[in-house]
Amino acid sequence: MAERVDVVVVGAGVAGLVAGRRLHEAGRTVVVLEARDRVGGRTLNDTIAGVTVEVGGQWVGPTQDRINALIDELGLERYPTYDEGQTVVELPGGKVKRFSGDTPPFSPLALVDLLQAQRTLDKLVETVDLDAPWDTPDAPALDAMTFASWLDRRLHTDQARAFHEILTAAALATEPDTMSLLHWLTYIQSGHGLERIIAVTGGAQQDRVVGGSWRVSERLAEDLGEAVVTSAPVRRIAAGDDAVTVTADTGSFEAAQVIVATAPNLAGRIDYEPALPARRDLLTQQLPHGQVIKVMVAYDEPWWRSEGLNGQAASADGPVGVVFDNTVPGHDPGILVGFYEGADALYWGERSPTARRQAFVDCLVRYFGPKAASPVDYLERDWAAEVWTRGCYGAHFPTGAWTRFGPALREPCGPIHWAGTETATRWMGYIDGAVQSGERAAREVLTALT
Ligand SMILES: Cc1cc2nc3c(=O)[nH]c(=O)nc-3n(C[C@H](O)[C@H](O)[C@H](O)COP(=O)(O)OP(=O)(O)OC[C@H]3O[C@@H](n4cnc5c(N)ncnc54)[C@H](O)[C@@H]3O)c2cc1C
Repeated sequence: MAERVDVVVVGAGVAGLVAGRRLHEAGRTVVVLEARDRVGGRTLNDTIAGVTVEVGGQWVGPTQDRINALIDELGLERYPTYDEGQTVVELPGGKVKRFSGDTPPFSPLALVDLLQAQRTLDKLVETVDLDAPWDTPDAPALDAMTFASWLDRRLHTDQARAFHEILTAAALATEPDTMSLLHWLTYIQSGHGLERIIAVTGGAQQDRVVGGSWRVSERLAEDLGEAVVTSAPVRRIAAGDDAVTVTADTGSFEAAQVIVATAPNLAGRIDYEPALPARRDLLTQQLPHGQVIKVMVAYDEPWWRSEGLNGQAASADGPVGVVFDNTVPGHDPGILVGFYEGADALYWGERSPTARRQAFVDCLVRYFGPKAASPVDYLERDWAAEVWTRGCYGAHFPTGAWTRFGPALREPCGPIHWAGTETATRWMGYIDGAVQSGERAAREVLTALT
């Protein structure tokens, strides 16, 4: 006999755990079924040189109101990312420069190029209807074009082009030719503009959670107790007249309502009975994830700081295109974090950890100098290799996907509701978006249950 609950939540990432928490608070019986043998999904802690760090999502920042409120609610604390000193940029062609402030050390021509394109982009971003990107004025045209095609028309210098390529890789772990212009505009507005998305202080990389961001999931799961079942991949969701039967490897549950809190690519791997409406099913076939290998090296101390560097670097040549200081206060080792992204992650994912470590260190030597050559420890996580994520940081919409399939992103299919950061309107793709989506889905379900 299947156990009966009010709501089954599929997936114990931040979105699913938050949905479970809000439903539990409202007095509903809930079970959260998680495929992995752990909670947290795309957030995860690990250690390097004996220090706990995040190998998945880590930073939170201002305007990320939902995750910041949750951190406070759980009694967790934040600390600022180290952000004092100069940033390093490797220009196309290999010249390495240091700079302070917001303006990269580009040629005057490239800066004008960048600024002109930025003004046009900003105006387009303002037009996006965040609740319904497919209703944005001129949506079909904006969605028919890749961001790369738009850059081809607007930019005339290699440096300005490199800026946007680094940015799309850093934000979505993919290249501008894989996503529609409408998607990039939506993503930018969702994150309150490019400046917020890029920035450390004042932006999305401003803060970290004491003990690592995985503490958020761990605390949520602790409070839910036995309602969270791990190693329970959900294979089938069958909606009958009186109840929905959710079948996992560990057994079945019957519920009045279900929340699927996974990225759309994984929601599409579950069998549904009856079959989902075509628009929803096709949506799950359309939204690929980017590719990320997150890499870290540790040194005895953060030596770059005494050289006036903040540990941040950006390079169009890569293969590790962006680097940050990931040192944890109160611990001696200096830690640098970098990301293989998009095509670089695919290429380097097919090589050995030793080769990836060396390629990362080679980048750091170019960016910061010879002291970077001898780290004492190395840590990596390839998210494209994780079967319950299949790429990261999250999904992006290729051309035509928002306008054809977007309306199915959040629309419930009878008693089945959809959560996960991809369904968020604010900070879509971020931990904050996951929280927003879990809270929204819980509200939907509570309304349906009354
Ligand atoms: C390397 C990396 C760096 C990142 N950096 C940041 C950052 O600095 N700041 C930030 O805000 N965000 C960052 N992100 C993104 C952030 O981690 C995610 O947006 C967020 O964690 C997504 O949460 P979620 O609950 O929506 O999805 P997920 O975390 O993917 O949770 C979905 C869960 O569902 C489970 N699942 C899937 N299929 C099934 C099934 N059939 N049955 C049962 N369970 C299933 C999965 O195992 C998973 O646990 C980063 C991500 C990565 C990978």
